[in-house]
Amino acid sequence: MSFELEVIATVESPFKEKFGIPRQPRLVNAACSKIVLKDKFNHPDYVAELTQHSHIWLLFLFHQNLSQGYKSQVRPPRMGGNKKIGVFATRSTYRPNGIGMSAVKLLGIENESGQINLLVEAADLLDQTPIVDIKPYIPYSDSILTATSEFAQHQPDASMSIDFSDSARQSIAQLPATEYPKLQELIVQVLQQDPRPAYKKNKLDEKQYGIRLYDLNIKWQVTAQQCLVLAVEQESIPDA
Ligand code: SAM
Repeated sequence: MSFELEVIATVESPFKEKFGIPRQPRLVNAACSKIVLKDKFNHPDYVAELTQHSHIWLLFLFHQNLSQGYKSQVRPPRMGGNKKIGVFATRSTYRPNGIGMSAVKLLGIENESGQINLLVEAADLLDQTPIVDIKPYIPYSDSILTATSEFAQHQPDASMSIDFSDSARQSIAQLPATEYPKLQELIVQVLQQDPRPAYKKNKLDEKQYGIRLYDLNIKWQVTAQQCLVLAVEQESIPDA
């Protein structure tokens, strides 16, 4: 049996590539995203009273990985990237049907000249991710205080200290906060997740990394347990 799903909305998020996106929702609170309803669903009726709920579930497709298929076993980064476990025991993005789910804070609903957008905080979604359903988060049922997880009980360590070079600081100060909301906080929170591959952690690593946020290229490097943001550069748009 197979079913077709209809995309009901797409995401506009600061994350333009997978590298650097937090591995779960609500780890990077400074990330603000828009859920833009598709034409067929772009009517206030569909979201009437949704703001009665502080949080919502987003069901989405890991669209960038869909063509790459899946395997029965994967190596979760939380287990150091060495041990293989069943795909259904993980939150891997490579899975049958490629469906993801994230509970996020609903900041509000805006009507932008007829276009209805849901504003959400701390989503872990790539820009342009297709949304296939939206549901309210129901605290009495969805929050299970006695739940346990042997390898993912607690939030990952985010204690790495993040410093900025003078030029990175100056670049951030020159960017308009309306287009790049909470930019410095966003960079700090993203880098505190230490997006490097698991095998690089706790090893000498002199590599310079780049992360794309909005249309910016954030260049950074880790020395010991200290991360330095080297530069914040606007990507140049090629001439037409
Ligand atoms: N909380 C979600 C879940 O369990 O369904 C996501 C877990 S998954 C490990 C999170 C990762 O998905 C992010 O770090 C990012 O690299 C990746 N991701 C986010 N949006 C994606 C998309 N549209 N296509 C492919 N990968 C995506």
